[in-house]
Amino acid sequence: NGPLLEVTDLTKHFAVHKGLLQRVAGHVQAVDGVTLSVAPGETLGIVGESGCGKSTAGRMMTRLLTPTSGQVRLRGKDIAGIEDGELRRNVQMIFQDPYSSLNPRMTAGAIVMEPLIIHRIGTPDERKARTEDLFRRVGLREADMHKLPSEFSGGQRQRIGIARALALDPSVIVCDEPVSALDASIQAQVVNLLMDLQQELGIAYVFIAHDLSIVYHISHRVAVMYLGKLVELADRATLYSNPRHPYTKALLSSVPSPDPTVSRGERMLLAGDLPSPINPPSGCRFHTRCPVAISRCKSEVPAFKPCGDGHMVACHLVEGDD
Ligand code: SF4
Ligand code: MG
Repeated sequence: NGPLLEVTDLTKHFAVHKGLLQRVAGHVQAVDGVTLSVAPGETLGIVGESGCGKSTAGRMMTRLLTPTSGQVRLRGKDIAGIEDGELRRNVQMIFQDPYSSLNPRMTAGAIVMEPLIIHRIGTPDERKARTEDLFRRVGLREADMHKLPSEFSGGQRQRIGIARALALDPSVIVCDEPVSALDASIQAQVVNLLMDLQQELGIAYVFIAHDLSIVYHISHRVAVMYLGKLVELADRATLYSNPRHPYTKALLSSVPSPDPTVSRGERMLLAGDLPSPINPPSGCRFHTRCPVAISRCKSEVPAFKPCGDGHMVACHLVEGDD
């Protein structure tokens, strides 16, 4: 009964080229040494500002991108060596933009059915029945199968994306900002749909967002990323009521409390802009914006260490377990 997905020391560096001769001008350390796991049926939220590497990490978890180093294991097997059909029957992805992630020339029914055809699952009749069932599950009508993506609203398009991701009955879906492009009222509907599907089907989610308020309802645990690094990871109640990392505190200071009776301690505000991920700051990457930084923060990278009850924090000011 181990973890479903295990991410170990996951790293992705891109070279950045400049000028006529395309010399290498630096390296984007998009994801740097990320280690985490996802249990069957669990939702792990991953939160951070744009450019923090959360989407890149999600793409490596689904093998849409190859890591520079590190590993993603599915039930103990490195996904680098898993046959494509087996991988897609287990790991699927939903994208941020329901406008560009669906083929505009295919009907909604064909989009949802396509994975069954690609992976040669069922007879034509079985595929049709399966597609109808998927439409029902995500709250679309059978008549919708014959429409093109342009005929749907943003929320409905995301439902089509979800139905397609469900077609092969995966054990985990990586959801990359699936509601960021939608109106607030529609966001709640899509999040509720994902939660209902998890109840019915026992799917695990990696739910990527740039805002802690969106992941609050859906997540069992939440990980916070900053400039390619994991800075904090805890179960939801702990992260929202007892954040330990200054960056998490700052993020929480900027969103309304989901539970106003719980105090979060001192407020913390972010100084300055997000530095470029090209050649990021030395030591703790957060030191240029951290209101409580000390001198060693500039030179020493803080370890990502446990501080009780599965709570992990990377900050020199936080005492580890031992
Ligand atoms: Fe701030 Fe230093 Fe902690 Fe980084 S290690 S979060 S700079 S106090
Ligand atoms: Mg992104």
